[in-house]
Amino acid sequence: MKSEAVLQRAAQVCADRGGKLTTKRRQVLAGLLASDKALSAYDLADKCKEAFGVTLFPMSIYRILEFLQTVGLVHRLKTTNKFIACAHIACDHAHDTPQFLICRECNRVEEVGIANSLSEGLAKTLDALGFRLMNDQVELECVCHNCSATA
Ligand SMILES: [Zn+2]
Ligand SMILES: [Zn+2]
Repeated sequence: MKSEAVLQRAAQVCADRGGKLTTKRRQVLAGLLASDKALSAYDLADKCKEAFGVTLFPMSIYRILEFLQTVGLVHRLKTTNKFIACAHIACDHAHDTPQFLICRECNRVEEVGIANSLSEGLAKTLDALGFRLMNDQVELECVCHNCSATA
């Protein structure tokens, strides 16, 4: 799907969830969509300057990212505090907690849905140990095939 179409779909998602894909939100999201790596707020500030000639301060980028997360268009990687566009914007189905494969060499991020049974099993184990799982977002440190081929 072309990123223009994805952005249209994203605007629809915002509208459905009672928000608006303003110009700045759209620019930040476009920056994330153009990258297959997770980006920090500072990376995004650079990207927006490059691509649109706009200066966005990291504080406003954080606010924009927070909104985009609330409507489910963007995910935050907790291990690195970087952000990535949801891989499912273009499709209609809702998804459960996402899992991420992160290449530690090139920082490419892949959003996958491998492990619902894994997190269920984990929740059970934790329960037996007296803990409740509050967040089952999984971030796995990997090396992608591209990088392992060049290594
Ligand atoms: Zn997602
Ligand atoms: Zn890699």
